[in-house]
Amino acid sequence: MSYKQEKGLVTRLQAGFYTVHAGDSEVTCRIRGRLKLKRKNETLVAVGDHVMISRLPDSSGVIESILPREKEFFRTAPTARGEFKQVMLANPDQIVVVFACADPPPSLRMLDRFLVIAEKQAIPALIVANKVDLVGMEKARKIFSIYTDLGYQLIFTSAKKEQGIQDLHELLKGKVNVLSGPSGVGKSSLLNRIDPTLRLRVGIVKDSSGKGKHTTVVRELYPLGGGYVADMPGLRTLSLWDIEPEELDGYFPDLRDLVSECQFSNCSHMEEPGCAVKLAVENGRVHPDRYDSYLRMRMGDESD
Ligand code: GDP
Ligand code: ZN
Repeated sequence: MSYKQEKGLVTRLQAGFYTVHAGDSEVTCRIRGRLKLKRKNETLVAVGDHVMISRLPDSSGVIESILPREKEFFRTAPTARGEFKQVMLANPDQIVVVFACADPPPSLRMLDRFLVIAEKQAIPALIVANKVDLVGMEKARKIFSIYTDLGYQLIFTSAKKEQGIQDLHELLKGKVNVLSGPSGVGKSSLLNRIDPTLRLRVGIVKDSSGKGKHTTVVRELYPLGGGYVADMPGLRTLSLWDIEPEELDGYFPDLRDLVSECQFSNCSHMEEPGCAVKLAVENGRVHPDRYDSYLRMRMGDESD
């Protein structure tokens, strides 16, 4: 029996067991009991955690320690014993937001909400504009031009005509990708183009229409062409949890630098005189649609 420890990645949670990818194998692990004393106020082990494991003679394993997380996709929940940090996914590299250029028509308001969540969680966002075959490149660029101007990474694809698939694959490689976007935009089609064997593991991008809150913890990471895709069905129903109205402007890259120029330091950019944001909208430096998204979020309107 060997006590040598190996490093691995937690890829699945299931009723007290953790699947860990270590080397070339998948090991079903339990957690060493004493670890449970640690991290009392946050999720002990989440999908995406890097862990050290040791193997048992029966080829199962034990998680001996959890390596520090670089990043987390989390929410905080108040409990009787103080704040609890629920980690939905450890070490996410990127949020991939897929919209269609048409059919269904893109809801840029929903896209803005995804981007705010990504900013709040400090995870880089990649916008994928799929079904470019339906509108042509010129129109597609026009629809999404605001976002390129804002500096977001944007890629145009057609799962149908196999356009941009290679580029998308490159952008997902070696990363833990959180995939999201409304249903019907072509998420499964894109993933199947990248890795046709994924078809066998469907369910991955099936949106849960449930109200999110309990279904938001990531339960599985799917290997995809040299990276991973996180199954996070509740992401789109999370909308703006955890974001206080006063911090919202900080998650709009086009607004946040203007805020310091507002006459009032606690300006909501709604009614106040001397508001630099409103002025920037009037003189065209901030896109009216983005301002509209801001106002709606600020007022708690989460319709599309
Ligand atoms: P998901 O719900 O986001 O996973 O979307 P699906 O992959 O199931 O695709 C929804 C529908 O859009 C299916 O009928 C696909 O054939 C179609 N579709 C997917 N990608 C494209 C595309 O690039 N162009 C066109 N025209 N249709 C597409
Ligand atoms: Zn203002």
